[in-house]
Amino acid sequence: MTDMRPLNELENRLGGEIKMISMAPMAQYTTLRLGGPADLLAEPNSPQQLQRLLKEAHDLDIPVTLMGHGSNLLVKDGGIRGLVIRLCREMRSITVQGGTVRAEAGAMLSSLAMTAAEHNLGGLTFASGIPGTVGGGVYMNAGAYGGEMSQVVTKVEGFTMEGEPFAYTRPEMEFGYRFSRLMNEDKVITHVTCQLPKADRETLLKEMVELNRRRAEKQPLTVPSAGSTFKRPVGGYASVLIDECGLKGATIGGAQVSEKHAGFVVNLGGTAADFLAMIAHVQKVVYEQKGIMLEPEVRILGEDAPVNAV
Ligand SMILES: Cc1cc2nc3c(=O)[nH]c(=O)nc-3n(C[C@H](O)[C@H](O)[C@H](O)COP(=O)(O)OP(=O)(O)OC[C@H]3O[C@@H](n4cnc5c(N)ncnc54)[C@H](O)[C@@H]3O)c2cc1C
Repeated sequence: MTDMRPLNELENRLGGEIKMISMAPMAQYTTLRLGGPADLLAEPNSPQQLQRLLKEAHDLDIPVTLMGHGSNLLVKDGGIRGLVIRLCREMRSITVQGGTVRAEAGAMLSSLAMTAAEHNLGGLTFASGIPGTVGGGVYMNAGAYGGEMSQVVTKVEGFTMEGEPFAYTRPEMEFGYRFSRLMNEDKVITHVTCQLPKADRETLLKEMVELNRRRAEKQPLTVPSAGSTFKRPVGGYASVLIDECGLKGATIGGAQVSEKHAGFVVNLGGTAADFLAMIAHVQKVVYEQKGIMLEPEVRILGEDAPVNAV
């Protein structure tokens, strides 16, 4: 049972100023449409509000979880204890100066790519169809069609969980495949700066349309998912291995290995427990047949539902 007193105190201190929702149903805030409630969810609308929120939560010893658009999250059925800070609807300004674009973490990657294109700046067409925020994209080093955030990002700014400012240059971010050093640190991204090459607006717009057409042709975009469930293993593709193991269409409860793209586990109306069971099943079968242990790309948060609650 969570001690709600610190959270109530946080609401008393900042609820008049910052949008906060108690017992926020995480299924409504994730593209997978799964997960129990967060004790408290806050949506600060400026870096100043965010900094105050972090300082007060630290002062009250409240655990903090960060999220953007929730497009790479699997929240367990018991939900998330403590405070969830969502940077998505707010903090989404983008400014352009020459070839330098600076975005707040809550801006969508699609808006970033579109704004860049409108200013005749390239390098971001790969990101136009990734349904996440700039903050989540940099944290994950999101990528597609040969591009990834690490190729364009020059500076990442934000706060520590104590509300102290930090800034990292690209080398300091230690980017790797779907990896940044922030995965091993508790920090919040507020701003991302990208240096982009000059390019022709019309060509960029056409490229984005074409990449998104290819995406819609191959991926199950009309059913809830968190994108690729597994990371690409060395020397291969998770989707090919899963398909070769005969798992396309496999179903546990409401979790199904997509019939359209074996790399996606989709939610046909199940629970997070179904989804976790499907991840474990796919890992087991692929390991038995191929000797490769697939690693989830989706970030798993929260706690299981109490046994008598499901
Ligand atoms: C249909 C579909 C297609 C997809 N295609 C791709 C693809 O082609 N390539 C790809 O790489 N991904 C893809 N994804 C996955 C997902 O969109 C990306 O990983 C995206 O970058 C996640 O951003 P988000 O804002 O949704 O982050 P969330 O899912 O909300 O969070 C992801 C992680 O980032 C952290 N985080 C979020 N914001 C911040 C912040 N401001 N500061 C610090 N940490 C933060 C969270 O704590 C969490 O650990 C796809 C997903 C879907 C549903």
